[in-house]
Amino acid sequence: MATGNINVTAENIFPIIKKFLYSDHEIFLRELISNATDATLKLKHLSTLGEVKGDIGEPRLEVIVDKDNKQIRIIDQGIGMTGEEVEKYINQVAFSGAEEFVEKYKDKVPDSGIIGHFGLGFYSAFMVAEKVEIYTKSYKEDSKAVRWECDGSPQYTLEETDRTERGTEIVLHIAEDSEEFLDEAKIGGLLSKYNKFMPIPIKFGTKEVNDPSHTPETTTDKDGKETTEPHRQITVDSIINNPNPAWTKQPSELEEEDYKSFYRELYPMQFEEPLFNIHLNVDYPFNLTGILYFPKLTQNMDPQKDKIQLYQNQVFVTDNVEGIVPDFLQMLRGVIDSPDIPLNVSRSYLQADGAVKKISSYITRKVADKLASLFKNDRKAFEEKWNDIKIIIEYGMLSEDKFFEKADKFALYPTVGGEHFIWNELVEKIKDAQTDKDGKTIVLYASDAKAQHSYIEDAKAKGYEVLLLDSPIVSHLIQKLETSKENISFVRVDGDHIDNLIKKDDNKISKLSEDEQTKLKEVLEGSIPKETYTVQLEAMDSSANPFIITQPEFMRRMKEMQATGGGGMMGMGNFPDMYNLVVNTNSDLVGEILNTKTAKKQERLIKQTFDLAKLSQNLLHGEELTNFIKRSYELIK
Ligand code: ADP
Repeated sequence: MATGNINVTAENIFPIIKKFLYSDHEIFLRELISNATDATLKLKHLSTLGEVKGDIGEPRLEVIVDKDNKQIRIIDQGIGMTGEEVEKYINQVAFSGAEEFVEKYKDKVPDSGIIGHFGLGFYSAFMVAEKVEIYTKSYKEDSKAVRWECDGSPQYTLEETDRTERGTEIVLHIAEDSEEFLDEAKIGGLLSKYNKFMPIPIKFGTKEVNDPSHTPETTTDKDGKETTEPHRQITVDSIINNPNPAWTKQPSELEEEDYKSFYRELYPMQFEEPLFNIHLNVDYPFNLTGILYFPKLTQNMDPQKDKIQLYQNQVFVTDNVEGIVPDFLQMLRGVIDSPDIPLNVSRSYLQADGAVKKISSYITRKVADKLASLFKNDRKAFEEKWNDIKIIIEYGMLSEDKFFEKADKFALYPTVGGEHFIWNELVEKIKDAQTDKDGKTIVLYASDAKAQHSYIEDAKAKGYEVLLLDSPIVSHLIQKLETSKENISFVRVDGDHIDNLIKKDDNKISKLSEDEQTKLKEVLEGSIPKETYTVQLEAMDSSANPFIITQPEFMRRMKEMQATGGGGMMGMGNFPDMYNLVVNTNSDLVGEILNTKTAKKQERLIKQTFDLAKLSQNLLHGEELTNFIKRSYELIK
């Protein structure tokens, strides 16, 4: 038996490790399982090279919780270590790794992000154990099994032992303050969080299953009643992981159903099927695999749950992919796996990292390409999904210029009538009818087909197309489209009278003389509240409504943009609503208002017409509405 001192400068390394990684204590299990997995993968590799003699079988790992003896054991059938290797890898390499880690982080408290996820390795065992034993036997012929023991002080023991199987068993003697880890359910939970897709099968306990060699018999009694005997149960090892998850396979090996069942495996509590998936697979200039899913966005979706998971070589790292996956895709689900993402750095460093930037723009490009091909291959299906995906796409168009450019191929502009155009089709369709006298093509849109019904009808009567753009960020998107596309302007259909929205040269002549118009304006301004409404006389079709309430496009859009963040117009959100009251001087009713002799009757006509205009904009409420109804009954008496 040999005892020795681990070569350290910081004697109190373990208390430091414990203290600094307090919130992350649970990572000890992932670290030890990663080591066991590495050792097994190395063995498999050496075996294919012919350097390991004989059949290695199907090596697997095992985790045992022994509550009575206050132990957790992690067992592998990997390459194992010789005595010298334990000296070298555990006493020196592993320890220097731990020391370096402490040096680096002793002045910083690791945040809940990526820091602290990696880099501690074997010594993280001491975060939960007061004593650690290693029993190990190398695959090398004639090597002797050894036992190493250390209680967290720099002193260790190393001696020969009588273990006969190849591989390593780590025995953790759980410390009093970590006894929570002796709970099977707790360890089971950690295994499924971190190790669900590790490449080597992991056994954890046993489970009862139906015996496949036994077919239950059905008997019929004298009354003709059938009874089937219960299935015979057998006890089998419980393997907690799927060593070959879908993302590690080639897209050509997978069917649509495989992607769906992998989705269910990832998110067992999700009952909604994903809309479609994107398989990521690149090995140059960085290594990245993964599958992303577009989920069906539902009202009660919790963005904190069921997020994209980041793995490194099938080991779960985090579900905080900020900085790695572009913001607009954070609502997606799925997995990305890349060994090329530096993990023990801060978020801000991560965002500046060249490789990570490339990864992020690769993901953006792949998503755009996939959307374009979905549109191209099955336009109808894509149109049907549009409502569920538009928020993500519109957000992407706003936040990533590259994506904005590509989106011309698949971003849809639906009309109130249920047709869908991509950008070029839209422009082609409306160019002739909807270009105004200054050569600008005007895109008309509604945000609510019901509330803006009469305005939509007016536009349709002119042969114009009206889009239905109703997502919350649409005013930002419109702003962006107007600045990037030439000679295009968007106006909401209720922004003004239709003849003013798309101004053509054919100026209508007013039936009223200058004097009459001045008088009309005076009369109207006497009874319409000036703080909210600006009276504006227009010579329009005599068949058009007498009064039309409009909200100037600019004002409304700025307010909307402020409400959804940004827009640059500070304070606009608190600005009172301002409207125009467009008065059609060619309407017979307006003529009648002007020429009515009794002031009382005139007042009543104005009020009634004004209320009708408000009603069509859904602006008539409360007492005003009650008065309107009363007045209407009186009028028809
Ligand atoms: P890292 O894994 O980052 O190299 P660790 O501290 O986790 O650092 O482990 C140090 C070394 O100890 C490993 O590189 C490996 O050579 C050896 N080792 C650890 N666990 C095992 C194991 N289960 N089987 C064989 N070798 C192991």
